[in-house]
Amino acid sequence: MKAAIFPSRYVQGKDSINIIGDELSRLGSEVLCLLSPSGLDYFQTPIKTSAEGKVNLHIEPFNRECCDPEIERLVRCGKEKNVNLVMGVGGGKILDTAKAVAYQLNTPVVIVPTIASNDAPCASVSVIYTPEGEYDRYLFLPKNPDLVLVDTQIIAESPVRFLVSGMGDALATWFEAEDCKISHGKNTTGYLGTKTAYHLARFCYDMILENGLKAKVACQNKMVNSALENVVEANVLLSGLGFESGGLSAAHSIHNGLTMLEETHHFWHGEKVTIGLLAMLFLTERSQSIIDEVYTFCESVGLPTTLEQIGVTNLDRDYLIPVAKRACSTEETIHNLPFDLTPEIVLDSLLIANQEGKNSH
Ligand SMILES: [Zn+2]
Repeated sequence: MKAAIFPSRYVQGKDSINIIGDELSRLGSEVLCLLSPSGLDYFQTPIKTSAEGKVNLHIEPFNRECCDPEIERLVRCGKEKNVNLVMGVGGGKILDTAKAVAYQLNTPVVIVPTIASNDAPCASVSVIYTPEGEYDRYLFLPKNPDLVLVDTQIIAESPVRFLVSGMGDALATWFEAEDCKISHGKNTTGYLGTKTAYHLARFCYDMILENGLKAKVACQNKMVNSALENVVEANVLLSGLGFESGGLSAAHSIHNGLTMLEETHHFWHGEKVTIGLLAMLFLTERSQSIIDEVYTFCESVGLPTTLEQIGVTNLDRDYLIPVAKRACSTEETIHNLPFDLTPEIVLDSLLIANQEGKNSH
Protein backbone atom coordinates (compact mmCIF):
# COMPACT_ATOMS: atom_id res chain seq x y z
CA MET A 1 0.00 0.00 0.00
CA LYS A 2 1.18 3.51 -0.84
CA ALA A 3 -0.04 6.84 0.52
CA ALA A 4 0.73 10.52 -0.01
CA ILE A 5 -0.63 13.46 1.97
CA PHE A 6 -0.76 17.18 1.19
CA PRO A 7 -1.93 20.48 2.69
CA SER A 8 -5.32 21.53 1.30
CA ARG A 9 -4.14 24.86 -0.09
CA TYR A 10 -0.75 26.52 -0.58
CA VAL A 11 -0.40 30.24 -1.35
CA GLN A 12 2.98 31.86 -1.95
CA GLY A 13 3.99 35.30 -3.20
CA LYS A 14 5.30 38.75 -2.47
CA ASP A 15 2.94 40.64 -0.11
CA SER A 16 0.53 37.69 0.10
CA ILE A 17 -0.08 38.58 3.79
CA ASN A 18 -2.42 41.24 2.43
CA ILE A 19 -4.92 38.59 1.32
CA ILE A 20 -4.91 36.67 4.62
CA GLY A 21 -8.36 38.03 5.56
CA ASP A 22 -10.00 36.55 2.46
CA GLU A 23 -8.18 33.27 2.99
CA LEU A 24 -9.18 33.04 6.67
CA SER A 25 -12.83 33.82 5.94
CA ARG A 26 -13.04 30.68 3.77
CA LEU A 27 -12.30 28.55 6.85
CA GLY A 28 -13.77 30.22 9.92
CA SER A 29 -14.97 33.37 11.67
CA GLU A 30 -13.39 33.42 15.16
CA VAL A 31 -9.64 33.07 14.78
CA LEU A 32 -7.12 32.29 17.52
CA CYS A 33 -3.98 33.93 16.11
CA LEU A 34 -0.66 32.89 17.68
CA LEU A 35 2.15 35.41 17.31
CA SER A 36 5.56 35.70 18.94
CA PRO A 37 6.22 38.91 20.90
CA SER A 38 8.37 40.23 18.02
CA GLY A 39 5.82 38.97 15.49
CA LEU A 40 3.24 41.21 17.16
CA ASP A 41 5.29 44.27 16.18
CA TYR A 42 5.82 43.22 12.58
CA PHE A 43 2.70 41.37 11.50
CA GLN A 44 -0.17 42.47 13.72
CA THR A 45 -1.02 45.53 11.63
CA PRO A 46 -1.13 43.93 8.15
CA ILE A 47 -3.06 40.93 9.49
CA LYS A 48 -5.59 43.14 11.30
CA THR A 49 -6.00 45.36 8.24
CA SER A 50 -6.60 42.41 5.95
CA ALA A 51 -8.94 40.66 8.43
CA GLU A 52 -11.05 43.79 9.03
CA GLY A 53 -14.73 43.05 8.42
CA LYS A 54 -13.99 39.44 7.40
CA VAL A 55 -13.10 37.53 10.59
CA ASN A 56 -12.67 38.27 14.32
CA LEU A 57 -9.08 37.93 15.44
CA HIS A 58 -8.13 36.81 18.97
CA ILE A 59 -4.41 37.48 19.09
CA GLU A 60 -2.42 35.51 21.67
CA PRO A 61 1.35 35.83 22.27
CA PHE A 62 3.33 32.59 22.08
CA ASN A 63 5.64 31.59 24.95
CA ARG A 64 8.67 30.44 22.95
CA GLU A 65 8.50 26.64 23.21
CA CYS A 66 6.29 24.03 21.51
CA CYS A 67 5.76 21.97 24.66
CA ASP A 68 2.79 20.37 26.42
CA PRO A 69 2.19 23.12 29.02
CA GLU A 70 2.09 25.80 26.30
CA ILE A 71 -0.25 23.75 24.09
CA GLU A 72 -2.59 23.18 27.05
CA ARG A 73 -2.58 26.89 27.90
CA LEU A 74 -3.53 27.86 24.35
CA VAL A 75 -6.25 25.19 24.13
CA ARG A 76 -7.84 26.66 27.27
CA CYS A 77 -7.57 30.11 25.71
CA GLY A 78 -9.21 28.92 22.47
CA LYS A 79 -12.09 27.32 24.40
CA GLU A 80 -12.69 30.48 26.42
CA LYS A 81 -12.89 32.53 23.24
CA ASN A 82 -14.96 29.97 21.36
CA VAL A 83 -12.69 30.02 18.31
CA ASN A 84 -13.43 27.98 15.18
CA LEU A 85 -10.08 28.50 13.46
CA VAL A 86 -6.46 28.58 14.66
CA MET A 87 -3.68 30.48 12.87
CA GLY A 88 0.02 30.37 13.66
CA VAL A 89 2.25 33.17 12.37
CA GLY A 90 5.97 32.76 12.91
CA GLY A 91 8.72 30.15 13.02
CA GLY A 92 8.63 26.36 13.28
CA LYS A 93 7.77 26.06 16.95
CA ILE A 94 4.84 28.49 16.76
CA LEU A 95 3.48 26.70 13.69
CA ASP A 96 3.81 23.27 15.30
CA THR A 97 2.04 24.63 18.37
CA ALA A 98 -0.80 26.05 16.22
CA LYS A 99 -1.28 22.63 14.60
CA ALA A 100 -1.36 20.85 17.96
CA VAL A 101 -3.79 23.40 19.44
CA ALA A 102 -6.12 23.24 16.40
CA TYR A 103 -6.10 19.46 16.63
CA GLN A 104 -7.18 19.54 20.26
CA LEU A 105 -9.82 22.20 19.55
CA ASN A 106 -10.97 20.27 16.46
CA THR A 107 -10.75 23.34 14.19
CA PRO A 108 -9.02 23.97 10.85
CA VAL A 109 -5.52 25.44 11.01
CA VAL A 110 -3.83 28.17 8.98
CA ILE A 111 -0.05 28.26 8.88
CA VAL A 112 1.84 31.46 8.02
CA PRO A 113 5.62 30.91 8.17
CA THR A 114 7.57 34.14 8.58
CA ILE A 115 10.86 32.33 8.07
CA ALA A 116 11.62 29.47 5.67
CA SER A 117 13.93 27.68 8.08
CA ASN A 118 12.45 24.18 7.89
CA ASP A 119 9.87 22.00 6.17
CA ALA A 120 7.39 21.74 9.05
CA PRO A 121 4.72 24.18 7.75
CA CYS A 122 2.96 21.86 5.29
CA ALA A 123 3.26 18.70 7.38
CA SER A 124 0.68 16.84 9.46
CA VAL A 125 3.12 16.42 12.30
CA SER A 126 4.23 18.62 15.18
CA VAL A 127 7.57 18.20 16.88
CA ILE A 128 7.01 18.50 20.61
CA TYR A 129 9.90 19.59 22.80
CA THR A 130 10.32 19.57 26.57
CA PRO A 131 9.93 22.97 28.25
CA GLU A 132 13.77 22.97 28.38
CA GLY A 133 14.06 22.67 24.59
CA GLU A 134 15.03 19.02 24.21
CA TYR A 135 13.33 16.93 21.52
CA ASP A 136 10.51 14.96 23.12
CA ARG A 137 8.32 13.30 20.45
CA TYR A 138 6.51 13.60 17.15
CA LEU A 139 2.80 14.30 17.40
CA PHE A 140 1.17 12.85 14.28
CA LEU A 141 -2.00 14.70 13.33
CA PRO A 142 -4.96 13.29 11.38
CA LYS A 143 -4.62 15.82 8.57
CA ASN A 144 -2.35 18.42 7.00
CA PRO A 145 -2.93 22.17 7.43
CA ASP A 146 -5.96 23.63 5.68
CA LEU A 147 -3.91 26.53 4.37
CA VAL A 148 -0.21 27.39 4.25
CA LEU A 149 0.42 30.98 3.18
CA VAL A 150 3.96 32.24 2.61
CA ASP A 151 4.69 35.91 1.96
CA THR A 152 8.05 35.89 0.17
CA GLN A 153 8.69 39.56 1.00
CA ILE A 154 8.50 38.65 4.69
CA ILE A 155 10.94 35.77 4.07
CA ALA A 156 13.27 38.10 2.14
CA GLU A 157 13.33 40.46 5.12
CA SER A 158 14.00 37.69 7.64
CA PRO A 159 17.59 36.92 8.71
CA VAL A 160 19.40 35.06 5.93
CA ARG A 161 20.51 32.34 8.34
CA PHE A 162 16.93 31.07 8.53
CA LEU A 163 16.61 30.67 4.77
CA VAL A 164 19.96 28.89 4.62
CA SER A 165 18.98 26.63 7.49
CA GLY A 166 15.83 25.69 5.57
CA MET A 167 18.02 24.77 2.62
CA GLY A 168 19.84 22.31 4.91
CA ASP A 169 16.55 20.69 5.91
CA ALA A 170 15.46 20.57 2.26
CA LEU A 171 18.82 19.20 1.13
CA ALA A 172 18.32 16.09 3.26
CA THR A 173 14.84 15.35 1.91
CA TRP A 174 15.88 13.55 -1.26
CA PHE A 175 18.53 11.38 0.41
CA GLU A 176 16.17 10.26 3.15
CA ALA A 177 13.37 9.57 0.64
CA GLU A 178 15.80 7.69 -1.60
CA ASP A 179 16.77 5.40 1.29
CA CYS A 180 13.11 4.70 2.01
CA LYS A 181 12.52 3.99 -1.66
CA ILE A 182 15.41 1.50 -1.77
CA SER A 183 14.58 -0.24 1.50
CA HIS A 184 10.77 -0.05 1.14
CA GLY A 185 10.82 2.09 4.25
CA LYS A 186 7.53 3.58 5.33
CA ASN A 187 6.69 7.26 5.17
CA THR A 188 4.95 9.19 7.94
CA THR A 189 1.57 7.65 7.02
CA GLY A 190 2.87 4.17 7.81
CA TYR A 191 2.55 3.17 4.15
CA LEU A 192 5.09 3.18 1.34
CA GLY A 193 5.88 6.41 -0.48
CA THR A 194 4.36 7.19 -3.86
CA LYS A 195 6.42 7.80 -6.99
CA THR A 196 5.05 11.34 -6.92
CA ALA A 197 6.66 11.87 -3.51
CA TYR A 198 10.07 10.54 -4.59
CA HIS A 199 10.01 12.78 -7.67
CA LEU A 200 9.05 15.80 -5.57
CA ALA A 201 11.89 15.01 -3.16
CA ARG A 202 14.36 14.84 -6.04
CA PHE A 203 12.94 18.05 -7.53
CA CYS A 204 13.46 19.66 -4.13
CA TYR A 205 17.17 18.76 -4.15
CA ASP A 206 17.65 20.07 -7.69
CA MET A 207 15.83 23.34 -6.89
CA ILE A 208 18.00 23.94 -3.83
CA LEU A 209 21.25 23.21 -5.65
CA GLU A 210 20.34 25.41 -8.60
CA ASN A 211 18.87 28.39 -6.73
CA GLY A 212 20.40 28.29 -3.24
CA LEU A 213 23.22 30.76 -3.62
CA LYS A 214 21.22 33.27 -5.70
CA ALA A 215 18.39 33.09 -3.18
CA LYS A 216 20.81 33.74 -0.33
CA VAL A 217 22.09 36.87 -2.09
CA ALA A 218 18.51 38.06 -2.69
CA CYS A 219 17.70 37.55 0.99
CA GLN A 220 20.85 39.42 2.05
CA ASN A 221 19.49 42.34 0.02
CA LYS A 222 15.91 41.87 1.29
CA MET A 223 14.74 41.36 -2.28
CA VAL A 224 12.40 38.82 -3.83
CA ASN A 225 13.70 37.28 -7.07
CA SER A 226 12.79 34.07 -8.84
CA ALA A 227 15.61 32.15 -7.10
CA LEU A 228 14.25 33.17 -3.72
CA GLU A 229 10.72 32.19 -4.78
CA ASN A 230 12.08 28.82 -5.91
CA VAL A 231 14.02 28.18 -2.71
CA VAL A 232 11.06 29.16 -0.53
CA GLU A 233 8.89 26.75 -2.50
CA ALA A 234 11.53 24.03 -2.11
CA ASN A 235 12.13 24.69 1.62
CA VAL A 236 8.48 24.92 2.58
CA LEU A 237 6.40 22.96 0.07
CA LEU A 238 8.59 20.44 -1.76
CA SER A 239 10.65 19.45 1.24
CA GLY A 240 7.48 19.09 3.30
CA LEU A 241 5.78 16.88 0.71
CA GLY A 242 9.02 15.00 0.09
CA PHE A 243 9.78 14.10 3.68
CA GLU A 244 6.23 13.37 4.66
CA SER A 245 5.18 11.23 1.72
CA GLY A 246 8.67 10.02 0.71
CA GLY A 247 9.89 9.18 4.20
CA LEU A 248 12.67 10.06 6.62
CA SER A 249 15.79 8.12 7.53
CA ALA A 250 19.13 8.83 9.20
CA ALA A 251 19.62 12.60 8.88
CA HIS A 252 16.66 13.43 11.12
CA SER A 253 17.45 10.67 13.62
CA ILE A 254 20.98 12.00 14.00
CA HIS A 255 19.48 15.49 14.38
CA ASN A 256 17.31 14.17 17.20
CA GLY A 257 20.39 12.64 18.80
CA LEU A 258 22.30 15.92 18.54
CA THR A 259 19.55 17.79 20.40
CA MET A 260 20.61 15.87 23.50
CA LEU A 261 23.68 18.10 23.64
CA GLU A 262 22.82 21.38 25.31
CA GLU A 263 25.43 23.24 23.25
CA THR A 264 23.46 22.52 20.04
CA HIS A 265 20.26 24.12 21.32
CA HIS A 266 21.27 27.52 19.95
CA PHE A 267 21.52 26.12 16.44
CA TRP A 268 18.67 25.67 14.03
CA HIS A 269 16.90 22.48 13.04
CA GLY A 270 18.18 22.64 9.46
CA GLU A 271 21.75 23.24 10.63
CA LYS A 272 21.70 20.10 12.77
CA VAL A 273 19.91 18.15 10.02
CA THR A 274 22.75 19.17 7.69
CA ILE A 275 25.28 17.55 10.02
CA GLY A 276 22.96 14.51 10.19
CA LEU A 277 22.84 14.45 6.39
CA LEU A 278 26.63 14.63 6.04
CA ALA A 279 27.04 11.74 8.49
CA MET A 280 24.35 9.85 6.58
CA LEU A 281 26.20 10.28 3.27
CA PHE A 282 29.09 8.31 4.78
CA LEU A 283 26.86 5.92 6.69
CA THR A 284 25.11 4.92 3.46
CA GLU A 285 28.30 5.00 1.37
CA ARG A 286 27.12 7.59 -1.15
CA SER A 287 29.50 8.21 -4.06
CA GLN A 288 32.39 10.64 -3.66
CA SER A 289 30.89 12.89 -6.34
CA ILE A 290 27.65 13.22 -4.36
CA ILE A 291 29.61 13.84 -1.15
CA ASP A 292 31.64 16.55 -2.90
CA GLU A 293 28.50 18.10 -4.40
CA VAL A 294 26.76 18.35 -1.02
CA TYR A 295 29.81 19.63 0.90
CA THR A 296 30.58 22.20 -1.80
CA PHE A 297 27.01 23.44 -1.74
CA CYS A 298 26.95 23.64 2.07
CA GLU A 299 30.17 25.62 2.11
CA SER A 300 28.93 27.95 -0.65
CA VAL A 301 25.79 28.99 1.25
CA GLY A 302 27.28 28.76 4.76
CA LEU A 303 25.66 25.59 6.09
CA PRO A 304 27.72 23.87 8.81
CA THR A 305 30.00 21.00 7.80
CA THR A 306 31.72 20.41 11.14
CA LEU A 307 30.45 19.59 14.62
CA GLU A 308 32.18 22.68 15.95
CA GLN A 309 29.95 24.79 13.70
CA ILE A 310 26.91 23.54 15.63
CA GLY A 311 28.60 24.16 18.97
CA VAL A 312 30.04 20.69 19.64
CA THR A 313 33.73 20.92 20.56
CA ASN A 314 34.10 17.76 22.66
CA LEU A 315 34.71 14.97 20.14
CA ASP A 316 35.44 12.18 22.63
CA ARG A 317 33.66 8.97 21.68
CA ASP A 318 32.42 8.51 25.25
CA TYR A 319 30.87 11.97 25.14
CA LEU A 320 29.22 11.53 21.74
CA ILE A 321 28.05 7.91 21.95
CA PRO A 322 24.72 8.85 23.68
CA VAL A 323 23.93 10.97 20.58
CA ALA A 324 24.39 7.92 18.36
CA LYS A 325 22.45 5.70 20.76
CA ARG A 326 19.57 8.15 20.76
CA ALA A 327 19.69 8.28 16.94
CA CYS A 328 19.40 4.48 16.89
CA SER A 329 16.53 4.14 19.37
CA THR A 330 13.78 1.84 18.15
CA GLU A 331 11.21 4.47 17.17
CA GLU A 332 13.71 6.40 15.02
CA THR A 333 13.45 6.65 11.22
CA ILE A 334 17.14 5.71 10.92
CA HIS A 335 15.85 2.13 10.75
CA ASN A 336 14.52 2.93 7.27
CA LEU A 337 18.10 2.50 6.09
CA PRO A 338 18.52 -0.55 3.88
CA PHE A 339 20.84 -2.30 6.38
CA ASP A 340 21.28 -2.96 10.12
CA LEU A 341 23.35 -0.54 12.09
CA THR A 342 24.83 0.08 15.53
CA PRO A 343 25.45 3.30 17.47
CA GLU A 344 29.20 2.73 16.95
CA ILE A 345 28.81 2.80 13.16
CA VAL A 346 26.64 5.93 13.37
CA LEU A 347 29.25 7.63 15.54
CA ASP A 348 32.02 6.63 13.10
CA SER A 349 30.06 8.30 10.29
CA LEU A 350 29.51 11.45 12.34
CA LEU A 351 33.23 11.74 13.08
CA ILE A 352 34.22 10.99 9.47
CA ALA A 353 31.74 13.61 8.21
CA ASN A 354 33.23 16.08 10.67
CA GLN A 355 36.75 15.33 9.43
CA GLU A 356 35.61 15.74 5.82
CA GLY A 357 34.17 19.13 6.76
CA LYS A 358 37.51 20.17 8.22
CA ASN A 359 39.24 19.27 4.97
CA SER A 360 38.79 22.09 2.50
CA HIS A 361 36.83 21.53 -0.67
ZN1 LIG B 1 13.43 18.58 9.11
